[in-house]
Amino acid sequence: MPLNPKLVLKGGKEKHIRHGHPWIFASAIERVEDSPQPGWTADVVTYDGRWVAKVGYSPKSQLRARVWTLNEGEEVDAAFFERRIRSAIGVREKIGRMDPQGACRVINAEGDRLPGLVVDRFADVLVVQINSSPMEYWRETILNALEAALSPRGIYERSDSDNRGKEGLDKRVGWVRGEAVDADIEITEFGAVFGVDVVQGHKTGFYLDQAENRALVREWSSDARVLNCFSYTGGFSVQAALGGAKEVVSVDSSQPALDLSAANFARNSLGEDERFTHWCSDVFKALDSLRDEGRVFDLVILDPPKFASAGAHVERALHAYRKLARAGIPLVAPGGVMLTFSCSGAVTPEAFQKSVTLALSDNHRRGRILKRLAAATDHVTDFGFGEGAYLKGLAIEIE
Ligand code: SAH
Repeated sequence: MPLNPKLVLKGGKEKHIRHGHPWIFASAIERVEDSPQPGWTADVVTYDGRWVAKVGYSPKSQLRARVWTLNEGEEVDAAFFERRIRSAIGVREKIGRMDPQGACRVINAEGDRLPGLVVDRFADVLVVQINSSPMEYWRETILNALEAALSPRGIYERSDSDNRGKEGLDKRVGWVRGEAVDADIEITEFGAVFGVDVVQGHKTGFYLDQAENRALVREWSSDARVLNCFSYTGGFSVQAALGGAKEVVSVDSSQPALDLSAANFARNSLGEDERFTHWCSDVFKALDSLRDEGRVFDLVILDPPKFASAGAHVERALHAYRKLARAGIPLVAPGGVMLTFSCSGAVTPEAFQKSVTLALSDNHRRGRILKRLAAATDHVTDFGFGEGAYLKGLAIEIE
């Protein structure tokens, strides 16, 4: 077995790794032996020489290494990536998300023990995002393994996250395997048809993490008046309309997103229907003016963009969640339901719930939690890596 370069940890810094957390920060490392290059595999050992893990090395980043395996006998080679990728696909097959016309997250980075790699499937197209220098090192191997396992029509690379800068990597986007497919791809998600623009769309093209919550909205929309705030391309709105809503108001500050939403209504034979309206506005302004008009809805959805991008912004973000919920609650009819979300990984579910509690009390209203919501099941999370559970939400019945 070839000897790997070695990272020697400071005392006690192996514990979280053994519990399944895959990140090793520069501050935990006592010394590095044998000058590994970016992406090389290294052995991590305790300060007194006990073996801990094989990791991918990232010399430019404060996040200096990511765990590949806690099994000393496991080689990190092409077969290793093929195994992990096939295992990830197997999970999506098990949970019924590999229908050919559908879409799902096939590989959820740390959650699938492939740190720094996201792969989303939109029908027969894959979108790949590589966020770390060790994953970049294995890029060709990964693209080969994905092609062999899934035979996609095309693979589009969207390695455009800001994280790449911290890893010393340039951004890279474009069709990298197979055909350059028309960027507007049609997918079916829990009975609704959506267009996905893998080139221009947010994230890898679509918010797949909300798929199951959108399906829940469909179940709860029968005969309901629905207000969908931060509606983007109409994911929740279309499902509400398909679920029998008698009115759906979609609010977003992006006119192009609203145009795509209208196109998605049309795709589901719901176009040109005056019950379904799109409103280009700042959500806070829209909520205030709806309240001033005395409007109420049976279902109000608040799915804002990330309010906290780092731990340092948590307090400000919690204040913003409270302010948003405070503005949304008056629009919920007595006995109606509000679905409110936070996709800020740095905000804990407990802190988020507190912000909603305060917003209810600001409005002198009482609420009951019907359901705690999270990212869809295909966004698997690994034990020991709490950061993976970034999306949290509450479905609340408000008296
Ligand atoms: N719920 C959507 C995803 C929402 S993404 C889905 O299921 O697909 C967040 C959206 O919020 C984006 O479309 C963005 O344009 C919009 N947005 C951000 N800030 C806003 C604001 N202050 N007012 C209105 N829309 C806003």
